[in-house]
Amino acid sequence: MAYDDQNIFARILRGELPAFKVYEDEQVLAFMDVMPQAEGHTLVIPKTPAVTLLDLDPEAAAYTIQIVQKVAKAIEKALDVKGIVLMQLSGAAAGQTVPHVHFHLIPTSVHELGKHAAKMGDMEQIKAIGEKIKAAL
Ligand code: 5GP
Repeated sequence: MAYDDQNIFARILRGELPAFKVYEDEQVLAFMDVMPQAEGHTLVIPKTPAVTLLDLDPEAAAYTIQIVQKVAKAIEKALDVKGIVLMQLSGAAAGQTVPHVHFHLIPTSVHELGKHAAKMGDMEQIKAIGEKIKAAL
């Protein structure tokens, strides 16, 4: 699928838009979701341009999932949660709203998931939770 380099996450990666970053290296960025479906909702994205998981280079996918695991452990430690939903939407038909591949880490139960990308969260609270996760990494 053609990659639109003006999508929100591409702009965050270029530093054109702000984000509460919890982890960054040469290949991956993790940051807080601004419309969290639970406290601690974090996104992990490969820096390489790809719209969906199906488009992503397998080596980049393999590396990204290692960071997904690392950030999930930090969420568990920082927020003392027992369960984390890992969600990955590939394609608008699946509900994907931002066309740069990403993994959602949502500390909740699948039975508690709310509306997707529906309501802006409290930025001060999101920032504070992000700092806790960052400190646990
Ligand atoms: P998708 O629907 O593509 O699987 O998920 C996109 C996610 O990005 C949603 O959970 C939505 O809340 C989040 N999101 C949308 N715009 C922004 C933004 O500008 N900054 C951040 N940090 N998250 C965003």
